[in-house]
Amino acid sequence: MARYTGPVCKLCRRENTKLFLKGEKCYSDKCGLVRDPKVPGQHGGRRKKLTPYGVQLREKQKVRRYYGILEGQFAKYFDMATKKQGVTGDNLIQICESRLDNVVTRLGFALSRPEARQLVTHGHFTVNGKKVDIPSYLVKVGDVIAYKPSSLDSAKVKTILEINENKPLAKWLSLDKNTMSGTVISLPTLEDVDLPIEVHLIVELYSK
Ligand code: SF4
Repeated sequence: MARYTGPVCKLCRRENTKLFLKGEKCYSDKCGLVRDPKVPGQHGGRRKKLTPYGVQLREKQKVRRYYGILEGQFAKYFDMATKKQGVTGDNLIQICESRLDNVVTRLGFALSRPEARQLVTHGHFTVNGKKVDIPSYLVKVGDVIAYKPSSLDSAKVKTILEINENKPLAKWLSLDKNTMSGTVISLPTLEDVDLPIEVHLIVELYSK
């Protein structure tokens, strides 16, 4: 399964936005963007004024990188969003939010999306009682996402749950702390995303 394996703080510096890809470090003064906000790379440095196309492109890259979605998959999501009823931009974000790796992060079962992705591929989660190890699996209303009971014995998992104990929960999810399982109670909307997104820019980019 393809994924980005380069330095992740560079992605935040490129987008000039915290994408929260490093867990606890993102909330500390060790954050790569806080320490060095310049554009990365040989031709980086000062931020240049962007063309309208550049603004649209950066918005798409920001969202793609926030969710850890590769170009081809993101284009597929856009296609799915155009075919769904409703507003395309809202549908696109709803699809991204519904990915299992994102839901695992929102439930506080991982410290970041990259970590959630790894935990999912390593088979630590069930959806409705069945093991699911596909990070891009899209959850539906009523789905129950849980840690496998055996995974709850792992020291790493215990640490994650301890750190996230008081993490605020998205309003479209519910969490049972006794069984470490979460339920999707409604579909997520753009307002549920803790990243400022001008989704119309992405729609304009793909509509060219
Ligand atoms: Fe981004 Fe987190 Fe790195 Fe800060 S620490 S630059 S938010 S990945």
